[in-house]
Amino acid sequence: MNSSLQSLLALEEFIGDIVSMQKVWSFVPEAQLLRTLVDIKKIHTSTDPQRKRLLLFSFKKTVSDQAPAFRSNLQNDAYEFLTTVLAHMRGLSPLLHKVASHLGTRYTCPVESHLVFKMDITRMCKSCDIRSLRQEEFTNLSLDLIPEATVEQMLQLYLTETQLEYKCNCGGTESAQRFSFATLPEVLLLHLKRFRCTSVCKLEKANDPIRLPANMVVYTRKGNVQYSLISSISHFGVLELGHYICDSVHPGTDLGESSDRWLTFNDSQVCETSGSHICKERQHTAYILFYKKQGVQERWTDEPHQDVET
Ligand SMILES: [Zn+2]
Repeated sequence: MNSSLQSLLALEEFIGDIVSMQKVWSFVPEAQLLRTLVDIKKIHTSTDPQRKRLLLFSFKKTVSDQAPAFRSNLQNDAYEFLTTVLAHMRGLSPLLHKVASHLGTRYTCPVESHLVFKMDITRMCKSCDIRSLRQEEFTNLSLDLIPEATVEQMLQLYLTETQLEYKCNCGGTESAQRFSFATLPEVLLLHLKRFRCTSVCKLEKANDPIRLPANMVVYTRKGNVQYSLISSISHFGVLELGHYICDSVHPGTDLGESSDRWLTFNDSQVCETSGSHICKERQHTAYILFYKKQGVQERWTDEPHQDVET
């Protein structure tokens, strides 16, 4: 919970948007999650453990009231926790839109404005070549782990055509499917699937090293967009038990600044580090990555994909 929270708190504009919407959610009982998160942000730099403890218990209770899997003190997956929190936050959106319109104002869901992106999913029948296109919304992508590969390469693999069984009207049963970005988020949340099946079909943790770039380019049909790493959650241990830590850009640091100041949040210990150190040290452990959009590159994409008729 600490690592997931530290990563969310590192998304300054995301948290800023929640704070700016305070008028809308402050008196809505269902929005306890937003209130607690903002309260945690307010005492983020406090050294009073008792105040933090109460708020963290309150946060855990709010999340586990919706998702009972997090009620106990058993070890849980940080990715599941994080996506549960984001889904909960997003689920408040219809109610808060209504409240906002009663108040004569507008509500912007922080998850929708910072993390959500759309993907085009194209399916093509191998027998008759008929294509169908649908669009889906995502808040993150789960990438297959490729040892020694860069995050960019793992993302590229996700966008590569795959084969699937699908019964077409023509009678064909084999189709090809491909994902491509229709929109890109302000913050791209990536989850690395650090597990594999053993020869006896048992899941085990994969500690294979990857190459963790400070900057990467995401290719879309509309252009190439540069992203910079601003936070990562690492897992140390095996599948059943272990420890999470979070590394994030030092608050108030402009990306691209030569200072490269970062912080490592290891439960109650917080220490200074640098982004270049993190990219090197977390190759075996990086599990969840937060990349922030930096800008669209001028030149048009060299993306190897063809355009699709819709
Ligand atoms: Zn067909």
